[in-house]
Amino acid sequence: MAVSGIGPYDDGNIFARILRGEIPCRKLFEDEHALAFHDINPQAPVHVLVIPKGRYVSLADFTARAPAGEIAGFFRAVGAVARELGLEESGYRALANAGPDSHQEVPHLHVHIFGGRPLGPMLVRRAEG
Ligand code: 5GP
Repeated sequence: MAVSGIGPYDDGNIFARILRGEIPCRKLFEDEHALAFHDINPQAPVHVLVIPKGRYVSLADFTARAPAGEIAGFFRAVGAVARELGLEESGYRALANAGPDSHQEVPHLHVHIFGGRPLGPMLVRRAEG
């Protein structure tokens, strides 16, 4: 179910629990700023999630509150994961949902990396655009 709005950070969210080691994940990458792991319900042959280690709900929250080094470290990790997955040549999509209109389910900032097949149009088009 999507989150009902962008609120304060909830320490009980599933990615906070993964970061605390309470729930396992199929880890691909970890450094001081970020953790990357396979999505439990993949929507493409490659579907990886990259999350910052800090307590941030969304991109807006992260970029407003995180120190510059943490922001740089996180986005370097997103790029490093895409490179390590071997997706630079075939291509991939990086996506971060935020709030109800995006159907964000987990209220801890995460960047999805999708790849491994042609991914189709960016969004489902509707009459209103
Ligand atoms: P969102 O809709 O918030 O952008 O994406 C949340 C993603 O987290 C979904 O793609 C969902 O499959 C994934 N997810 C939810 N719970 C777990 C979990 O316990 N482990 C892993 N690896 N992925 C999860």
